[in-house]
Formats: sequence, structure tokens, C-alpha cells
Amino acid sequence: MSAGPFRIEVLKTAGNARRGRLFTAHGTVETPAFMPVGTAATVKAMTPEAVRETGAEIVLANAYHLMLRPGAERIAELGGLHRFMNWPGPVLTDSGGFQVMSLAKLRDIDEAGVTFRSHIDGTEHRLTPERSIEVQRLIGADISMAFDECTPFPASREDAAQSMGLSMRWAERSKASFSARPGYALFGIVQGGVYPELRAESAAALKAIGFDGYALGGLAVGEGRETMFRMLDATAALLPADKPRYLMGVGRPADILGAVRRGVDMFDCVLPTRSGRTAQAFTRGAMLNLRNARHASADAPLDAACRCPACRGFSRAYLHHLFKADEILGAMLLTWHNLTFYQDLMRAVREAIESGNLDAPLAAFPIAAATAAAAPAVAEVP
Ligand SMILES: [Zn+2]
Repeated sequence: MSAGPFRIEVLKTAGNARRGRLFTAHGTVETPAFMPVGTAATVKAMTPEAVRETGAEIVLANAYHLMLRPGAERIAELGGLHRFMNWPGPVLTDSGGFQVMSLAKLRDIDEAGVTFRSHIDGTEHRLTPERSIEVQRLIGADISMAFDECTPFPASREDAAQSMGLSMRWAERSKASFSARPGYALFGIVQGGVYPELRAESAAALKAIGFDGYALGGLAVGEGRETMFRMLDATAALLPADKPRYLMGVGRPADILGAVRRGVDMFDCVLPTRSGRTAQAFTRGAMLNLRNARHASADAPLDAACRCPACRGFSRAYLHHLFKADEILGAMLLTWHNLTFYQDLMRAVREAIESGNLDAPLAAFPIAAATAAAAPAVAEVP
């Protein structure tokens, strides 16, 4: 356990890319970092030990899901999330703002917060900045996120400005209700849709409030990679250099490489885990669909350069068989592989920044170059 304040040490830079180290109440995280998503206090199909073995140092959990089931107070009574899910490392919790907009039924937004019905059982709940921060404290998150309204895409400039304004007022209330503890952090979230001047206004508002880190929200929601990169170009330089930057919900290997070049330190995405459960594998060369008949008698491993159990112990033919037979081991092995792939990619990115050659990961992971040129959909390369 590291004592002392939450902070990032920037160890090396290459252009705008930053190689750093986060210090939290539950240990350190090498950055740029990818955080596996453990929405309901579990990275689906993985034990915590397996998650750690992929190289992951921090996981993401979700305040919205956990407040509905099993309940934030219950998690607190049971010793907090780290103990509850047996993950001793750092945890970041999403505030619930995004999920309340995308999952909850009959939501009703007012200045003070959001009233909504649970997508699980229809019961009525209310989430405000104050309650969201309380939920995240009860859960025991090392990094809490400000409660915000994720601006839908597309949104007119006027709608994006209004939504951003509300999120900035909620950010101020989130900060006011956050109790500072050594090693624990609260991040603000830059909104403003696809309008650079709104993004700049949002970044300035958050900086004035003062957060331990800054996230970029409302991106990767359908605006396309070029627009997302333009928003990062317009925003990253406005954020304090001595605080971590987190691009929420992103993404594909090419998205991550491009965002690292623009100064982002932290990422999360359901892609490696969700793809693993649907027979989609990230390999250094291309995406593979293990359900495809061409793998039925392929004795080769998924990815010869990968050190994960799926690649060390099994053939593509066996993985194909598991998915055809609906065996749960298929989802487990492919999730393990995809998470290992993402951690290997991040390690290559960190080494690239250290060596000053930001193109190095493209040679080792040609899939990142391929997906950079292609449409943003994740499709199997034939
Ligand atoms: Zn593997």
C-alpha cells in the first residue's frame, strides 16, 4: 500500500504523450493505463487473480449498478468494494451519470439531480451529485468521478452548451461533497459535445473548481475517430499538466494510440471483455471471429506472440469448438486473452514513450494501424 497523497508523476514525455505513474490508496498504476471494466464488481468471466495476471493494475466499477444491486450501504457494511470483490488494487468508479441516461427507465432530470426507475426491477431512485459521491465513498473507490450529464450525440450547440453548464454546476457540488482522504481522488469530467469552444469552457470551469484528475466525457458516442481526436487536440493542452487525464469509454487500439499521442493517461472500455464473450479476439495482426468455420481445424494458437493461458495451452480449433458448443470456458479464455492483449499493447505504448519512438507499437501491433485506417466498426478482417 502506498501512503501519501493521490498524484501522478510524469516520468517521461514524447511530444504530447506522457509516461507516468499514479499513486493511489491501494497501490501504484503505470500510465498510460488501460482499466478493465468490472461494472457489477466483477470483470466478467475473470477471477481477480486472473485480471491481475493480465497485467492490469486498476479496475473500473460502476456506482449506478452497485447502488441498485447489491446496494452501496451493503458493500460498505461488508468492508468496501476491495474486500467484497477481492481486488486489493486501485478501483475507479463511474459516477452513474452515463448509465442513468443510457439504462434507466423514465428518468426525469432537474437542476438538483435525476429521478429514475431501475432497469432491474422498476423501483424509483434518485441520484444527485451529493448522493453519487456518497455512493462512491461507501463503495470505497480510490478514484471517484464527478456526477454529470453525458451529452447525447448528436446534440445542437445550444443543447450541448446547456448540458455542459448543468454538468459544471454538478461538478462544483460533487467537489463540495467529496471528503478528501490521502490516496483518494475525485476527477472532473470535461463535456461540451463536439464543440471545441464548449470543451474549452468546460475545461476552464473544472480547473477553477480544482480536481485531482480530469476526464474527457461524451466522446466515442458515435462522433467518429477524427472528431474525437479534434476534441482531444482542443482540450488536452488546457488541462493541468500535473494531473492525470482519462478518456472515458475508449476504445479500440488505434483510438488509444491516437489519444496517448494527444496526452491521455488512462482508458477504459468494455471492448476486450465484451468481445471475448462473443468469440471476437484481438490479435496483433487482426480481429478474429472464433466462430468462423475456418478455425475448425486450425492447430495454431490464437496469437503466437501472446503469453496468456488461451494462447499457451490451446489451439484456435479448440477455442472454436468451445464457442460452437456454448461452453463457458470459451468466454473465459477469450476474455483472458483480450485483456492480456490490451495490457501488452499498453506496455508497448509505455516503452515507446520511454524510447521516444511513438510509432514502435504499430510495428508490433499492426492491428492498431489497420483499425486506424478503417471505419470505426469492429469487424473481422477476412
Ligand atoms: Zn493470448
